[in-house]
Parts: sequence; C-alpha cells; structure tokens
Amino acid sequence: MPVNKSNYERIQKELQAKAVTLVAVSKTKPVEDILELYELGHRDFGENYVQELADKQAQLPKDIRWHFIGHLQSNKVKYIAPFVHLIHGVDSFKLLQEIGKQAKKQNRIIDCLLQVYIAKEETKFGLDENELAEVLMSELVNARVCGLMGMASFSDDMELVRSEFRYLKTLFDKHAKPPTSNQALQILSMGMSSDYKIAVEEGSNMVRIGSLLFGERQKPV
Ligand SMILES: *Cc1c(COP(=O)(O)O)cnc(C)c1O
Repeated sequence: MPVNKSNYERIQKELQAKAVTLVAVSKTKPVEDILELYELGHRDFGENYVQELADKQAQLPKDIRWHFIGHLQSNKVKYIAPFVHLIHGVDSFKLLQEIGKQAKKQNRIIDCLLQVYIAKEETKFGLDENELAEVLMSELVNARVCGLMGMASFSDDMELVRSEFRYLKTLFDKHAKPPTSNQALQILSMGMSSDYKIAVEEGSNMVRIGSLLFGERQKPV
C-alpha cells in the first residue's frame, strides 16, 4: 500500500498549527515508505519492536529522530541506547534505571516518557497514579523523564476515550513542575489514528499516528 501523502500533509498542517508533534508510526512498514515521508521533510518516526528499529536505524539517514513506542524489556535497552531519541513507554523504575545505565555507557542522556495506565483494559501497560508519583520523585542518572504517555481504550465510545485522555492531562498538569516531581514535564504523548483529534482537544502535544499515513498493517501487529 502506498504512503498516503495527502493525509500526511493535511494532518501535519493541522498539528503544526497547534504546536503538536507528529510521530509517524512506521512499525511493520518498509524503509522505502519511511524515506517517502523523510523526503517531505519528516524526521520523527516511531517503532515498537527493538530489532526492527535497530535494523531500520542502520539503513536510514542519521538525522531521523527515532521514538521507541512499544513495551520495552530491560534486557533490550542496550540495542537502542546509542541512538534512540525518546522512549515513550517506560512503565517501571527498574526499566528507567536500566535506561540510565545504558545511556551512561553511551555517554548520553536518554529522554523518556512514563506510561500511565488509563484504559479500562487488562492488556495495556502502565503505571497507576501512585506509582507515577513515586517514580517522578526519584533521582535519576542519565535518564530524564520529560513527560507522560498513555493509550486510551480501544473503543468506539468516544466519550470514554475522551475521559481517559482528560484524566491523563490532569495527572500531567499536577506533576508538571516541582514539588511533586523532580523533573519538568513538557511532553504529553497521547492519540493515535483513531483518536488523535480528541487527544489534541484534551491537551496532547505529541501524537503517534501510523495507519492514516502508511495504510493499514497486516494483523497481528
Ligand atoms: C501502533 C501504535 C500506534 C499507531 O497506531 P495507528 O492506529 O496505526 O495510528 C500508536 N501508538 C502505539 C503505542 C502503537 O503501538
């Protein structure tokens, strides 16, 4: 399936007007598709499998900002630590420590978003409100928490989706500055193809969009 350039241009224009960063989610898609958007000037791409990300990074221009948006296992951090721009799905202090450790080896600081559990679904990952508050007060070395990420329920009930995003925004506002956080939170990553408009209305400043740009993926992903 070809890359949908007209969707890209329309969505990018809409998001830029609101100062929202578009992460183009290229998981399962070939490097040729990524290059098509790269040539239009796009630089932020998201992947959710470590091996696939490492393979693509090796083949593609080095000024791409790679976002890791999947569920990251501690033992795989080392494969992306040399180059990853932002890790969205950090859901434990242990993982944050490992990211810091690997970042230190690379002599860099890695920016991270803490994933908060906002959906009423068992299959989703993330910290609850209390765990979030705890992690935000911790001292970190070479890993920097710069925001929050969440995924709403996979549902047609858009009022449910909206309420989940709204809840995450309240947590973001609550912890944006000290004293309840050691870190200054700037990024709120929420919204995908099906719900990004609602997410932006509810205060998202970073959306992760795949299928509207690259076409539907083969299932399962
Ligand atoms: C796949 C994925 C997306 C993009 O999904 P689309 O519905 O294709 O826009 C966004 N966020 C995460 C965490 C994903 O895994």
